[in-house]
Amino acid sequence: MDDMRELFLHICCAPCGGGCIRHPDLSPGRNITLVYSNSNLDSETEFEKRLHEVKRLAAFYELQLIVDPYDHEAWLQAVRGLENEPEGGKRCQKCFEFNLKRTSKFAGEKSFATTLTVSPRKASAAIFEIGMKYPNFEKVDFKKKNGYLTGRNFALEQGFYRQNYCGCEFSRREPAVNQKEFQL
Ligand code: SF4
Repeated sequence: MDDMRELFLHICCAPCGGGCIRHPDLSPGRNITLVYSNSNLDSETEFEKRLHEVKRLAAFYELQLIVDPYDHEAWLQAVRGLENEPEGGKRCQKCFEFNLKRTSKFAGEKSFATTLTVSPRKASAAIFEIGMKYPNFEKVDFKKKNGYLTGRNFALEQGFYRQNYCGCEFSRREPAVNQKEFQL
């Protein structure tokens, strides 16, 4: 029963995490451990920048935080051949799989979910399809019930860094108008 209350939450950044940790679709009293797995980021500098804010978020909610070491080379291998895909395409599916697989290993037999579903730019159905390959995945659609807006407002209140691109070097190629819309 205790295990049912534990949740390993894959976190991509503090603004997204802020919309998920107290989300109404997570029953109160869940014991959440954050898992920062973000080897998709285009540089270690960006990895550390987002991690710094995730640490602030973890401290705010007094949550444990696991940091998956940065390994961009492994991520690049995983998406090889898909570099020219648009954001939201096949490269992103591989990217989700890369991070969810690693999070699943940290969770072991315990449940895990991902903050990726809070983003209006990421299709929850595509994330669920990948997540369901792992028996301990919980389908929580954090973009429901104003999850995105909650995270955005919380980030503004806390002064969190709000990046204007998804994360990998290929997402930096998105047209400026998309990057503006991206601002978390
Ligand atoms: S655009 Fe975002 S989700 Fe897609 S591959 Fe790049 S970092 Fe991953």
